[in-house]
Amino acid sequence: MTETAETTRQEAYRPTFTLDEGPLDEVHAFWLAGMSCDGCTISAAGAQNPSVEQLLNARLPGLPRIVLHHPVLSVTAGKDFMQAHHAAKAGKLGAPYVVLFEGSVPDERIAGEFGGYWSAMGADEREGAGKQPIPTAQWLHDLAPGAAAVIAVGTCATWGGIPAAIGNVTGAMSVMDFLGEEYLSALGLPPINIPGCAPVGDNTTETIAAVLMFLAGFGPLPEFDELGRPAWLFGETVHRRCVLAGNYEEGKFAESYGERKCLVELGCWGPVVQCNIVSRGANGHMGGCMNTGGICIGCTMPGFPDAFAPFYKRPPGSLMSTTLSRTTGSFVDYLRQFTLKSRNRTRRWKRDNAVPSGWAKVDGGLNPAERMVGGVYEFLKRRRTGFSAAGSHRQRAYQNPSHAYIRKSPHDHEVER
Ligand code: SF4
Ligand code: SF4
Repeated sequence: MTETAETTRQEAYRPTFTLDEGPLDEVHAFWLAGMSCDGCTISAAGAQNPSVEQLLNARLPGLPRIVLHHPVLSVTAGKDFMQAHHAAKAGKLGAPYVVLFEGSVPDERIAGEFGGYWSAMGADEREGAGKQPIPTAQWLHDLAPGAAAVIAVGTCATWGGIPAAIGNVTGAMSVMDFLGEEYLSALGLPPINIPGCAPVGDNTTETIAAVLMFLAGFGPLPEFDELGRPAWLFGETVHRRCVLAGNYEEGKFAESYGERKCLVELGCWGPVVQCNIVSRGANGHMGGCMNTGGICIGCTMPGFPDAFAPFYKRPPGSLMSTTLSRTTGSFVDYLRQFTLKSRNRTRRWKRDNAVPSGWAKVDGGLNPAERMVGGVYEFLKRRRTGFSAAGSHRQRAYQNPSHAYIRKSPHDHEVER
């Protein structure tokens, strides 16, 4: 494309709105699917915070209603469905819009060499060829310049993902690879990336809501990291929030699935992967890899899948840290088990050396060694605080006035009043 043609194209899709025009009532969302399995659609459809229904029905205070054009979820089909796409492309939609892209963007030139296409939606007349499918890559190319924001949903769209793995024949790439470093939306935003295979549903809808809030003039532009990921969602590694993380520290590693221990030796990459699925759950706070006993294979990361394959093999880098954890962890674990046992007994049970539990025979007291270590522990715990042990001289001094009061007869109290 010549520079003049490119300039004309940019002019043609100049947005028909600015943020100065006041609150928005309605924003169109064009969901385009490239080399995709539709998993991102399924996970977004199951989102709860917020839900797709809340976004479509303007149920979030202050946010505009979303008019969704989705190839699977929309009730219209054929020409009726495509009409808004053509209007947006021609700059005649009359409302702002965002583009959501699911799946990677194939290199349609490769398919074109054989007279075919990789993924397409709608059709238009081509000179000498009649009606021809319009590749979704073409739609992305045509709609992106006028979009308020382009949001890549899922790892295929954000980084290329599985369709772009070594050996692929489609030339698949990410949205940002396709649009290039220079691309900015009509509001000056580079592509926003929500990775995951599939992404956490709430991550998708929450990011859309955050961007809408900005468009509606209710909030600042949310913070994105250097790769365009929502910083508040992808700032932590899986490992830091993992439900099994304490096991790593204590040197407890699973040898087979089903053990409630750290899964790193079974191939978990969590310590070096940015993802929030364990704290948020896959959908509706349910599921999420380690929460359900699975390892992390790095599906949110730009290197996925090649950099993490073969899956289910221990990451080589974990050898040093697991060896260290085993060395220190066994000692730390012993001390913790001891303290845990002590905290699991009431003072009365310790004194009586018995636990009146009908559930099982429970050892009530502590052996002499445990009592001695416990004494040191209590001393260290209270040191340099005003806190006094139960029954200590200082505690008795504090309690004496109230004990004396209680011991008085009602008559004495009456006389005092
Ligand atoms: S299972 Fe994975 S993420 Fe969880 S503690 Fe082990 S290495 Fe870290
Ligand atoms: S924990 Fe790992 S495998 Fe699971 S969703 Fe996150 S990045 Fe993907």
